[in-house]
Amino acid sequence: MIKKVGFIGLGAMGKGMAFNLLNAGFDMSVYDLNPEILKTFEQAGAKIADSPKELARVSDVVMTMLPEPEHVESVYLEKDGLLEGAHEGLYLIDSSTVDPECNKKMCEAAAKVGVTMFDAPVGGSPNEAAAGNLVMLAGGKKKDMEACRPVLDVVGQLTLFCGPIGMGSAVKLANNLMTMNMMATVVEGYTLAEDAGVDTKVLAELQRLNVPRVFDMMVLMFMAKVDNVGFQTILAHKDVRLALKMAEDTGTPLPVGSLVKSLLQLNIRQGRGKLGLQSSRRIYLKEDDKS
Ligand code: NAD
Repeated sequence: MIKKVGFIGLGAMGKGMAFNLLNAGFDMSVYDLNPEILKTFEQAGAKIADSPKELARVSDVVMTMLPEPEHVESVYLEKDGLLEGAHEGLYLIDSSTVDPECNKKMCEAAAKVGVTMFDAPVGGSPNEAAAGNLVMLAGGKKKDMEACRPVLDVVGQLTLFCGPIGMGSAVKLANNLMTMNMMATVVEGYTLAEDAGVDTKVLAELQRLNVPRVFDMMVLMFMAKVDNVGFQTILAHKDVRLALKMAEDTGTPLPVGSLVKSLLQLNIRQGRGKLGLQSSRRIYLKEDDKS
C-alpha cells in the first residue's frame, strides 16, 4: 500500500500536483532547488528532503516534474540522486515532458538497482494540475501503472495506458507538435484576418463551432486511411492560394500558409488532386508501404 510519496520539481505544474497529493493525505516529502517553494510546502505539512537520494529513501513512490531531459538525468543519476536512494518496492514516475530515449535510459538505470520506473507525462496546463484534472499518459508495464493508481488518480482525472516505456512521452510529443502547429496557424490566420479588416470575434465564433468537428473528421479520416472522401485537394489548394493572394494585398507574411500550399501542391503533383486533402498522408509513406 502506498503511503509515502516524494515529489521533485515544484514549479508551475508540479506545485499543484504535489499539493493535491498532500491534501489527499499522503505522507509527502518534497525536493526542489527553489527554497521559497520548499518553505511553502513545509508550512503546508510536507517534509523537506535534503537530496533526491534522501527523498527516494523515505518514499514508496517518487514523482518528478522537471523542465528538460538533462534535469531528469541529473536528479536520477548524479551523486545523491534518486537511484542512490533505491530500495525494494520503490516506484519512480517521471511526469516531465522529455523524449522516449530519456525514459528508456532512466528505466534501465533504475532496473539495475532493482527499482521500477515508468513515464507518465501529462496533458493539461497549471490550472488542470491545480485542479487534479490532468490526463496522465503512462508508458511502461500496465501492472506498475495499476500499482501506482492511488497516486495517478489524485493528480489526474484520467490515466491512459500508452504502451511500453517511453510511449507516454511519444504520445505527448506528437500531441504537442500539433498544438504548437495550431498556435502558429492561429497567430498567422488571425493576423491575416486583422490585416484584412475582419471583425475577429466573428471569425472566432465560426471557429468555435467548426474547428472541433473538422479536427475530429480529419483524425478519423487519417486513421481510417480513406482518401476518396472529404474536401478535394485541388479545392483546398485554391483556398490557400487565394488566402496568400489576399495576404499580398494586405502585406501579411504567411510562412506557415506558404508551406501548406507547397504541401498541397506536392499532393496534386503526385496525382491526388481529386482526393480528400487527408490523402497528403501518402507523401509520408515509406517505399514498402506504397504497394
Ligand atoms: P517550471 O520551470 O515551472 O518548474 C520546474 C521546477 O523544477 C522548478 O521549481 C525548478 O526549481 C525545479 N528544478 C529544476 N531543476 C531541478 C533539479 N535539478 N532538482 C530539483 N528541482 C529542480 O516548469 P513546469 O512548467 O512546471 O514544467 C515542468 C515539466 O512539465 C516540463 O517538462 C514541461 O514541459 C511539462 N509541462 C508543462 C506544462 C505547462 O503548461 N507549464 C504543461 C504540461 C507539461
